[in-house]
Order: sequence, then C-alpha cells, then structure tokens
Amino acid sequence: MFRLVLGTHNPKKLKELQGLLEPYPVQLDNLANVPDPIEVEETGQTFQENAELKAVEQAKHLRQWVLAEDSGICVDALDGAPGIYSARFSGDSATDESNKQLLLEKLKDVGWSKRGAFYTSHIALADPLGNVHVNCEARCYGRILKQPRGDNGFGYDPLFELPEYHQTFGELGPAVKSLLSHRARANRQLVPKLLSLIAKETSELSWKSKGF
Ligand code: IMP
Repeated sequence: MFRLVLGTHNPKKLKELQGLLEPYPVQLDNLANVPDPIEVEETGQTFQENAELKAVEQAKHLRQWVLAEDSGICVDALDGAPGIYSARFSGDSATDESNKQLLLEKLKDVGWSKRGAFYTSHIALADPLGNVHVNCEARCYGRILKQPRGDNGFGYDPLFELPEYHQTFGELGPAVKSLLSHRARANRQLVPKLLSLIAKETSELSWKSKGF
C-alpha cells in the first residue's frame, strides 16, 4: 500500500477526499493522526499556489507523501470573489454560516441572470522531499440561490444550485456530489496519475530491496 497524508484540517473536505480515494491502493493518513503536523499559511495568489504550499511544506516537515487541496467559490457578479479567500470571506473568525450570510448580502440586488458561480478545486501531490509530482484542477458550474436549501455538504453548498438538477449540493447529498463536484472532477484527473506514480515507486522500491 502506498502511504499518503491528506494535508487538510477541514473535516468535511477530508471526508470527501477519503471517500473519493477509497477505491484505490492507498493508505490514507490525515493530519489528526500524524505526530506534530505544521499549520501552513496560505500566502499564494492562486488555488495552485496554495495547494502546492500546503502539500510541499507539510511533506518536507513530515517526510511523507502529502496530497493537499485548495478550493473555493468564484462568483461572476463579484468578479470571481471570494475565490481563494472563500474560507475567510467574512473575516478571521468566519464560519460557514457567516460566509453564506455575507454572500447573500452582497448579492441581494443581483438578478437571476447574473448569479452564476463556479467552485474550483486544485489538488497537488508532493513527495517527502517536497517535489511536486501532480497538479490537477477542475471546476463545477452553478448559480447562487437567494436562500439556502438543504443541509448536506459544507461551506456554500446550500446556496449553490446545479443547473442539471435544479437542486443545491445541500439538497443533493454525498452520492451526487461525489460524482459532479469540483473535487470529484479534480480527483478523476488525479487517479490515473497517482496509479502510475504508485506503479513506478513500488517497482523502484522492489529493485532497491533486491540490492540494485
Ligand atoms: P481551503 O480549505 O482554503 O481550500 O478553503 C476552502 C473553502 O472554500 C471552504 O472553507 C468553503 O468555504 C469553500 N469550499 C470549497 N469547496 C467547497 C465545497 O465543496 N462545498 C462548499 N464550500 C466549499
């Protein structure tokens, strides 16, 4: 089994990533299970920069393979905000609730035709020396409702309606989200790359164990 640490402190995001990677030959650890993880500051200007920072810094610190994800919601009427600042949209002590309220407040005079938005997920995988081996990024398009609907998911999910279903991720639940979300789409790009990396790493290890 290939050991991989999931470099996130967000329990809901962690659960989704664990579910998406469950079918594959990887032994997943999370930051709550490894000794003394670091808190990586998200100082990047893009989803990729932040995902790489979280993967690389944690991997070098733990001396393990680390997979990190940076994600957020980009709203057309707000010129792409909150984007990489989605988690802290309503300030340093932001909660999912205060973030949703602020988003509704900012869009209160915005009509239906201008409420388009997309989620982005960027996944980066770093080796124990901090070299980045994989970068994947995907989006999921929808629109922001005027009131929340449903309790599933996390973050902005009760406000984010998928055009295919006329329902929010809050209403649709984990089965649909695990197929259609930005994270699921980025994960589908990741899987073939991860599997070929595992094949390469395991064959190198087996050669080394034979003394070559
Ligand atoms: P990160 O932990 O810095 O990547 O911040 C991600 C933030 O983006 C979360 O705290 C949410 O506010 C938002 N977000 C990302 N993915 C999702 C999702 O799948 N559903 C709802 N909100 C999300």
